[in-house]
Amino acid sequence: MSRGGRVAVPEAAAVRAALARVRTVVVKVGSAVIAAREGRPDPLFFWGFAADLAEARERGHRLVVVSSGAIALGRARLGWDARRRTMAHQQAAAAVGQCDLVQRYAAACGELGMAVAQVLLTHEDLRDRSRYMNARATLGTLLDQGVVPVINENDTVAVDEIRFGDNDQLSAMVAPLVDAGLLVLLSTVAGLHERDPRRDPGAAVVGSLAPGDPDPSVDGTAGAAGRGGAASKLGAARSVARHGVPAVIADGRERGILARILAGEPLGTLVLPAAAASALPARKHWIAFTLKTRGRIRVDEGARRAIVEGGRSLLPSGVRGVEGRFERGDAVSVVDAEGREVARGLCAYSAGEVERIRGLRSSRIEATLGVRYADEVIHRDDLVVV
Ligand code: GLU
Repeated sequence: MSRGGRVAVPEAAAVRAALARVRTVVVKVGSAVIAAREGRPDPLFFWGFAADLAEARERGHRLVVVSSGAIALGRARLGWDARRRTMAHQQAAAAVGQCDLVQRYAAACGELGMAVAQVLLTHEDLRDRSRYMNARATLGTLLDQGVVPVINENDTVAVDEIRFGDNDQLSAMVAPLVDAGLLVLLSTVAGLHERDPRRDPGAAVVGSLAPGDPDPSVDGTAGAAGRGGAASKLGAARSVARHGVPAVIADGRERGILARILAGEPLGTLVLPAAAASALPARKHWIAFTLKTRGRIRVDEGARRAIVEGGRSLLPSGVRGVEGRFERGDAVSVVDAEGREVARGLCAYSAGEVERIRGLRSSRIEATLGVRYADEVIHRDDLVVV
């Protein structure tokens, strides 16, 4: 079905109704949901949520939990106030809190006959293709056994270069990793709002958001407990939507929220997926949304059009400039003359090599560098329009 020449996107009601048949669901739980009362863990949450998971599993869903809360629980356990905020304090708190966190999931789920598995990841684990495939196989095995993986960032060792950013982003990278058909982001807001609810308490929750719809107002600030905010939830949801997977942003403090979402109740904000024909395959999604870019390649208007409108490769002749230090095989941003990012891709040449062949015909590559890996700077199979 196509209206007005636009690619048809699945309608909200049809997507909601189909959630009952989704096989694998990734549920991200924010720190504020877990530590709702002044940083103290909320025992009721764990028991209620476990019942919710058990019901979903009973109905045939495979469940992956991405849970924040390690730092918040660790700080509460250690009695640390706002003065202990260095990186080492946060990482130490995470080490303490992660035990507490996973024990609470294990106890509540165990009571209902479900085993949980603790999985701690750093960005390195998903950036490296062989580690990625390993994580995928392990998680697949756990899910086949009916175990519920409880994933968090390995905060104790993660420093900036190997960080995911926040757990919203981590959950968006985990979704394609486990072939999820739905991402649920649970926090302490009822969904995305038309306007900032803190400035305008009457602002309504946006029921659904289609791929072409403008973003609702999100101010980018996070709550006190966790790292992500509304902007990061929207970013995570939009990213899985590009992969053809819907996302729901909802209030995790509401009883039975997960089972109700899966039953098709119109709760929270549903971010609609791209139509199947235009959805990014897992590898392209990984290039665009999991890898961190190491540099920028500025291209001319002809190359921009060839990439964005024609789905073509980037050739040396279209390159105008290079920024950053990247090696062959690294992810880079492709930017237009104004510096706006138009695509991301894996570069076949290092930054220094691209600098030397920029503006040249592909037939001149070998004579210039003494080696020719490819005719393209970025092959279209490795290039994703953003
Ligand atoms: N990994 C952090 C924790 O468990 C939370 C990160 C986030 O809030 O996104 O405390």
